[in-house]
Amino acid sequence: MSTHTITTSRASEIVSYDPATGKEIGRVPLRTSAEVREAVARARAAHPAWAAQTFRQRAKIILQARKLILQQIDDIAVLISRETGKPVAEAVSMEIVPALDLMYYFARNASSLLHPQPIDIGQYGLMGRSSEIIYKPLGVVGIISPWNFPLATPLDEVVMALMAGNAVVLKPSELTPFTALRIGEVFTQSGLAPGLLEIVTGDGSTGAALIDAGVDKVMFTGSVSTGKRVAEAAARHLTPVVLELGGKDPMIVFEDANLRNAARAAVWGAFANAGQACASVERCYVQESIAERFIDLVVKETKELKQGDSNAEGVDVGAMSNERQLKIVEDHLSEAKARGAAILTGGGRPEGTAGWFHEPTVVTNVDHSMKLMRDETFGPVLPIMTFRSDEEAVQLANDSVYGLTASVWTGNIARGQRVAALIQAGTVMVNEVVYTHGIAQTPWGGVKQSGYGRTHGRLGLLEMVTPQHIHVNRVPWVADVWWFKYSKEAVDLFRSLARRFTKGSPLQSSLLLPSIWRRLRDRR
Ligand code: NAD
Repeated sequence: MSTHTITTSRASEIVSYDPATGKEIGRVPLRTSAEVREAVARARAAHPAWAAQTFRQRAKIILQARKLILQQIDDIAVLISRETGKPVAEAVSMEIVPALDLMYYFARNASSLLHPQPIDIGQYGLMGRSSEIIYKPLGVVGIISPWNFPLATPLDEVVMALMAGNAVVLKPSELTPFTALRIGEVFTQSGLAPGLLEIVTGDGSTGAALIDAGVDKVMFTGSVSTGKRVAEAAARHLTPVVLELGGKDPMIVFEDANLRNAARAAVWGAFANAGQACASVERCYVQESIAERFIDLVVKETKELKQGDSNAEGVDVGAMSNERQLKIVEDHLSEAKARGAAILTGGGRPEGTAGWFHEPTVVTNVDHSMKLMRDETFGPVLPIMTFRSDEEAVQLANDSVYGLTASVWTGNIARGQRVAALIQAGTVMVNEVVYTHGIAQTPWGGVKQSGYGRTHGRLGLLEMVTPQHIHVNRVPWVADVWWFKYSKEAVDLFRSLARRFTKGSPLQSSLLLPSIWRRLRDRR
């Protein structure tokens, strides 16, 4: 189970394992560069007919796929859970529910979100001109996705890309190929024409081949190091990229917060999905005056969590998705311990489990010299530090190369909003954690090493289109004053334009009318 790519006598294959048991789930082909190029060519051929359809026609397919997912909800949830190790409850609440909500939202609203947009062009409008932006599909969108939300992450982007009129080639994580293939099956059953959603299973080499195959945009979600390679490869073709990368998301708890809920939120935010969400709470800063009470509550809540097989009932925390990630968690914890960190609960692999389990772990006596507070841990670990003032809290939160999300907990909403605006992150929640990825209407994305570009919401949909500016002159029989001939009078007029027209005041510009009139007359 240490490697997911194997080469048999026939070809290379990807093996998917159940991380809770270590048992093989199945195998899929590792698609070659030639196969990826063929998939992109099929998508390109299918695209024009799809782009010519109305939003209503596209929405019909998306809503049919949504209906099918709802009909197959239990089956799909079990598949997600088997491929990732997460509890079935989380497969439903953190993947299927938000994805279905997003499908409905974009099926219903893509048309108005991408409606041609008139632009106020000021005084040029008085000259009989108008401008608008129309939004055109890009062509073929390449989506490269990770394993932690194997249904929701790629499906959300597939839906946005398709609604915007694109064809899609999806390269899912090598750890979770069957969930992605299931997305493909659902769309085939919903009547999506062949070629519009191609799924190329494989590893990093397949992802690299997809970028080299010349797609029109790359939507990449994954680690910072791979994201940099993706950006470099895309730059060779000048292909635009959205990078949704890692995080080290801080949670700030002020003394006026509702402590019980803040503690429960910290526990859910850090341990949901076994801590393997890009927006997981990875650093918790609590105001010194309430630290003891808060930490007691966090430890108590954590001890009550039930860990076990993802398919068993009542399980809160499942297995981690892979051994490599588990080893990163162990490495961060052992380095922190060696530097004086205190483990209050958890700390290792639970006894009697065969798969890649790690106990939910609460740690104190930590500082920013430790990997645990600097690098993405991506596991069920909650390190807690204290602070004294608002300024110190902000400074600690911003002391990171990452900037995906953050949360601020306070009973004073104005204070929460003020502090939120000072934090360097794509999203800051006041009295909430993690969940806004599930809101279809709001943008998702990071700053600093957490990436660039956005997914979800109107900003995410705009990543799937090319804005085209269309400018119309409704008085085509009048020559523009700035055209040739550059006589002395013309240069004088240009100087007056610089002085008066550029003030944006029609009154000022009207003073230029006599010289404009003379110029038009002289050039006839
Ligand atoms: P990863 O970077 O290892 O892999 C992501 C995808 O990239 C996989 O499909 C992989 O096969 C592919 N890939 C690998 N090398 C490639 C290459 N050279 N060219 C093209 N594609 C290549 O990430 P992962 O371990 O699958 O996912 C975990 C990471 O994803 C974490 O860092 C997490 O924070 C991040 N993540 C971010 C978000 C977000 O929205 N910001 C969401 C989920 C996960």
